[in-house]
Amino acid sequence: MGRKPRTAEEIVDHLLNDRTGRLGGTVTGPPVDVYGIAASLGVEVVTRTDLPPGVEAELLRGTRVHLIVVRSPCQPARARFSVAHELGHLFLHPDEDFVFQQGQPTGCRYAERPELEANHFAAALLMPEDWLRAAIGEGMSDAGVSFTRIAQRFGVSRQALRRRLAALALTLD
Ligand SMILES: [Zn+2]
Repeated sequence: MGRKPRTAEEIVDHLLNDRTGRLGGTVTGPPVDVYGIAASLGVEVVTRTDLPPGVEAELLRGTRVHLIVVRSPCQPARARFSVAHELGHLFLHPDEDFVFQQGQPTGCRYAERPELEANHFAAALLMPEDWLRAAIGEGMSDAGVSFTRIAQRFGVSRQALRRRLAALALTLD
């Protein structure tokens, strides 16, 4: 392995586009197979019905295999975001276990830097900027782009899409 990528964008680019990487450039469009990516990284994703109130997911690091625990039941788009968020911690914050709590990042307690960074990573992984721009561009020539349709296509919640568009200063109008 060469030099470790640093920023969320660099890591995502490596995960999605590096043909010599673990995924071999097999991820070619939305929705990003976040479960396949986790598996390729040796991360097992399991669901639990008894997570403490407010906890959406957690990351447990092992010596060889890491575990992401996601609340069940959970909307598929939300579960995907939780997995992507925990993968963000795995890459960006190598030394700690993390619990992803409901309400991030608006509550000030959760507006902590690692949580914002993990949320940013999740958004960048699930909604790569060039794919998002392409989807919006296609929608333009297709009798009006539907916000909901794009969210569905990327497998994200409307809220997550809205935040990502705002962060990229993109609009659908
Ligand atoms: Zn977190």
